[in-house]
Amino acid sequence: MPSPGRSSSAFIIAFILVSGCQCADKLLVFLIDGFRYDYMDDLQNLPGFKEIVYNGVKVDYMTPDFPSLSYPNYYTLMTDMAAVYYENIDVEGHHFGPGSEQVWTAVRSLDTAFQTLNRKIKEEALEDKLNVIMFSDHGMTDIKWMDKIIEIETYIKMSDIIKLMDRGPVVSLWPKPAKLEEIYTALQAVQNMKVYLTEEIPGRYHYRRGKFVSPLTLVADPGWFIVENKAKLPYWKNGTGEPQGWQHGWHGYDNEFLDMRGFFLAQGPAFKKNFRAGPIRSVDVYNLMCNTLAVQPLPNNGSWSRVEFMLRNSADAVQPMLLYSCVLAVLVMLLSAQI
Ligand SMILES: [Zn+2]
Repeated sequence: MPSPGRSSSAFIIAFILVSGCQCADKLLVFLIDGFRYDYMDDLQNLPGFKEIVYNGVKVDYMTPDFPSLSYPNYYTLMTDMAAVYYENIDVEGHHFGPGSEQVWTAVRSLDTAFQTLNRKIKEEALEDKLNVIMFSDHGMTDIKWMDKIIEIETYIKMSDIIKLMDRGPVVSLWPKPAKLEEIYTALQAVQNMKVYLTEEIPGRYHYRRGKFVSPLTLVADPGWFIVENKAKLPYWKNGTGEPQGWQHGWHGYDNEFLDMRGFFLAQGPAFKKNFRAGPIRSVDVYNLMCNTLAVQPLPNNGSWSRVEFMLRNSADAVQPMLLYSCVLAVLVMLLSAQI
């Protein structure tokens, strides 16, 4: 079980980075992969989280982008910040499902690490110098490979397809141009999923203008799993050598689906104490991070009005000023991507 050791060492490295910084504003970021917004509901049994909640800001939930995957854009925007990435909760969520004992164990391991963090902040007298932001990229929902699989090859001829990308909640299809209409019609009849031509993809997904969007995009209903055929399901290695283990949790569904929601917590001199806030969207976090570092954000889709009131000095915080800021080395702890 990798969690406690890995997270502790990540903390130590992050603290070295923060301590080595000579300027006023310091920011430590934790990106917790696959931590659903309600995993911390039992705060009484999570003293590390509880202390942060009482010491800072908690939002009801954070809506991810579509598809609700771990995004490349976070890695991009993290390049100027110290970030600690923690993967284990996502991995356990996939393998055993969001309600599993394994996920709860991973959440408690993270809580132990946060208790250490809280203690270190006090020992080093960093309460008024260090801002800490913690959030997840998406949640997790139960999937059932026994009865909720959509096998595409049952409905269309795979020889009519030039390329198929991904499996699960969202699948991209490039049919032979002459076959597009036929394939589209055939897939419209499939239950428990939707098929979209590029221009039909709902605007709220902010997806259709992407450079690599395929002529057809399939989106499964929550809990359903789209795959070419059962042999291509992404089994995991559950200690048997060959991958044979079934996945029991997945994400990437409609980003408005409750189970896809992530969490957001923040504490430190920039943030109000013991403050509960309504939902925000993951695109909003970038503006907050820039503000606490006094960096001018690049143009982005985040809404300042959704996050501004979390700041202790809301009135002054309308526009972040261009100041010399503390630019810390990147520390994205990419722990063996298994999914
Ligand atoms: Zn995942």
